[in-house]
Amino acid sequence: MTQQLSLKDILKELKTPTSERAKLITEAYNFAVKAHAGQKRDSGDDYVQHPIAVAKILAQMGMRSKTISAGLLHDVAEDTPTSLEEIEKKFGKEIACMVDGVTKLGRIKLRGSHEEYFLENLRKMFMAMAADIRVIIIKLADRLHNMQTLEYKPPEKQIRIAREAMEIFAPIANRLGMGEIKSQLQDIAFKYLDKENFDKVKELEEINYKNKEVYVKQAIKELSEEIKKEGISVIQIDGRAKSLYSLYLKLKEYDMNISRIHDLAAVRIIVPEVADCYEVLGIVHKKYRPMIGRIKDYISLPKPNGYQSIHTTVFGPDGKIIEIQVRTQKMHNEAEFGIAAHWIYSENKSKKNWKDYIFKKKQTIPENDIVWVKQLRQWQSEIGLDNEEFIQGLKIDFFKNHIFAFTPMGDIIDLPEDATPVDFAYAIHGEIGNHATGAKVGGNMVPLDYRIKNGDVLEILTSKDRKGPNPDWLKFVKTSIAKSHIRRETRKDNESIGTK
Ligand code: MN
Repeated sequence: MTQQLSLKDILKELKTPTSERAKLITEAYNFAVKAHAGQKRDSGDDYVQHPIAVAKILAQMGMRSKTISAGLLHDVAEDTPTSLEEIEKKFGKEIACMVDGVTKLGRIKLRGSHEEYFLENLRKMFMAMAADIRVIIIKLADRLHNMQTLEYKPPEKQIRIAREAMEIFAPIANRLGMGEIKSQLQDIAFKYLDKENFDKVKELEEINYKNKEVYVKQAIKELSEEIKKEGISVIQIDGRAKSLYSLYLKLKEYDMNISRIHDLAAVRIIVPEVADCYEVLGIVHKKYRPMIGRIKDYISLPKPNGYQSIHTTVFGPDGKIIEIQVRTQKMHNEAEFGIAAHWIYSENKSKKNWKDYIFKKKQTIPENDIVWVKQLRQWQSEIGLDNEEFIQGLKIDFFKNHIFAFTPMGDIIDLPEDATPVDFAYAIHGEIGNHATGAKVGGNMVPLDYRIKNGDVLEILTSKDRKGPNPDWLKFVKTSIAKSHIRRETRKDNESIGTK
């Protein structure tokens, strides 16, 4: 059994609580408790503990009450007799759509090939199927809680779930700027996928962090006093250890020599304004001698994922090397929760909805703040679509006209909307198309003019006896490659008949 959560654990995390929001969440909570009644998790907990934990994570990120409610309901449609229609009737279309999106994403499983292009396609497919970025965020919270309770799963499932976390979910979290979620997913996955190195790194970190902890505490005390003297208010100052997986990646770069890694222990200082960050930097350097070439100003030059902070490595108390990180509260929220942090600000500014906010802020907030928008745009251009409207809603519907389907081997075929098994067959190989006799989806026979759905696993049945494509296929195929093959083959047939 894990720690038992209840409604108040969600409500107390609300960033901007109102009675209306609390009411919605309470209703979703009661609905989920009733729907999951009698169901258990592998941990022995009541099943509903899982959606409650997911809702709590969403509230901690600063998500709004509708998303939190969808988090509470996310497994209801899939795992209980209660239908999506009932959710829609009680909670409306917006929440029901989010629940439906999460349910559909749950059907995508990582299997087959390990190649990077395949993984990238799978990430794209996730984004495509989600259609609403809040669905991805719920799915990330869902996976995070499943990782936190992974010990209760059978070993073969642990490996698949951990691989998906490492190869699909963590990279998506990273691109959405959700550093905290990314690190937590990676660290747990690391433990299941590479226990030997995980243990090695954990031991190295524990010994070294313990050695440094006393100096970190000393530095926190000394710097707090100095900053106070200068009249700057500190919102938060604390020590932090580097995440295990990022430490492991760095150790590999430095021949596993931990003494060469200087940001193992860091003091993090959070202040109100950007100007305060630079003042604090000056105060730090007056107190402790900086290491040459180790000052990194990610405020003027943010990292590609939008990360902002000032980092400096100094000779701290007793001459011990420590890293100091300075940032504003807003930068801190964005570093931890990325795109989700925007909901906190949008709610405070009482904009009508999140789409309005993201779009409108384009005019008032510097370009680097909307780095996730750029990331989504880049995905859009990679897949070769140009849909100007996309940016207005930040809805991920630039994949809307794309269908991604699997071969039985796990390869992904990218098709246009309403594509059929014949299109799928020709997309794999001309000969497969020419000799196609039937198709199966998830093991069941479907007609050749079946409309493929996102995430379908298709098997094409072929026969050597089949003389060539049926010209009637032209009536329903969607891809030009299928059309040109069918035309070419049927023309050949006619010509050969004509010469006989
Ligand atoms: Mn779930």
